[in-house]
Amino acid sequence: RLSVGSEGYAVGERALQRATEWARTRVQGKPPVARRAGPAPIINHPDVKRMLLVMKSQTEAARALTLYAALQFDLATCGADEKVRRGAASRGELLTPIVKGWCTEIGNEVAGLGVQVHGGMGYIEETGAAQYLRDVRITTIYEGTTGIQSNDLIGRKLGRDRGAAMGALVGDMERELQAIGGTDASVDATRKAALEAVAALQSATQALLRTLASRPDAAMAVSVPYLKLSGYVTCGWLLAKSAAIAAAKPAGPDGEFYAAKIRTARFYAAQVLPGAAALARVVEGGGMSVVETDAALI
Ligand SMILES: Cc1cc2nc3c(=O)[nH]c(=O)nc-3n(C[C@H](O)[C@H](O)[C@H](O)COP(=O)(O)OP(=O)(O)OC[C@H]3O[C@@H](n4cnc5c(N)ncnc54)[C@H](O)[C@@H]3O)c2cc1C
Repeated sequence: RLSVGSEGYAVGERALQRATEWARTRVQGKPPVARRAGPAPIINHPDVKRMLLVMKSQTEAARALTLYAALQFDLATCGADEKVRRGAASRGELLTPIVKGWCTEIGNEVAGLGVQVHGGMGYIEETGAAQYLRDVRITTIYEGTTGIQSNDLIGRKLGRDRGAAMGALVGDMERELQAIGGTDASVDATRKAALEAVAALQSATQALLRTLASRPDAAMAVSVPYLKLSGYVTCGWLLAKSAAIAAAKPAGPDGEFYAAKIRTARFYAAQVLPGAAALARVVEGGGMSVVETDAALI
């Protein structure tokens, strides 16, 4: 499942590379505040830049999530003591359905945007953008669909330990975000947005545990929104951490790389992470609108 999760964002990464190259060379229209009159490469249009940032931030976030999960399995084997090994194993198991479900859903979204950045040339075959979309489509299906991953997450992972592993993860995210200091305004705004999202995940988890106990069918009806919420929030935390690390680096030849890390995390916090609040609301609302709808009415 971790391999297929990696496949999801890896195809997304290739779609991003191709779309960025296209956007830097395709000339069409005049950006709103262009210095020069006349057509310019489409990367200068705010909406194209936004699409590329959605692609880049989500791909980086999914990669960070997958590597973090892989680290847990390394620690589960090689950790210093039994307590560390047990904690890491439990976190790795909790994260596995999220890596598989979330990173492949992200890969699909990113590859879809890759086609959109190409316009009509993305829909037809010559650019190769549509090939990534076709290739990545299988990743949310094989090795267990997103629906099956979310059943695993809330049934086996959350339900079995009454939210203990998720509670430990939420606690660590909160503690680490609180500890991020420094004077960089972008990092601070990213950190605050990530903290808000962690609080949303925490209250949604409590609500879901109550629903699971009273109406498991209603809980199953919001399991995919819960998996996505967990993906957004864990990624928000990891990107905030990466921005803080980048901001602490001294000036040097990798300055542009670290500046991009900070800007990408800032964008994610401003335009992607707010989606977590909507998902938390869906989870807290419960799935009775699904359960109470007779299948014959669909
Ligand atoms: C190209 C390709 C390669 C594959 N390679 C392999 C392979 O190497 N080895 C292997 O073993 N398999 C392989 N598969 C099979 C693959 O793992 C299954 O297709 C996949 O697990 C989905 O099962 P299904 O096709 O039976 O769909 P179904 O189980 O019929 O699912 C259809 C829909 O119903 C939903 N659904 C089904 N049950 C539940 C439930 N309990 N709760 C909620 N929702 C549910 C699913 O989420 C999905 O949306 C491959 C499939 C493809 C297309």
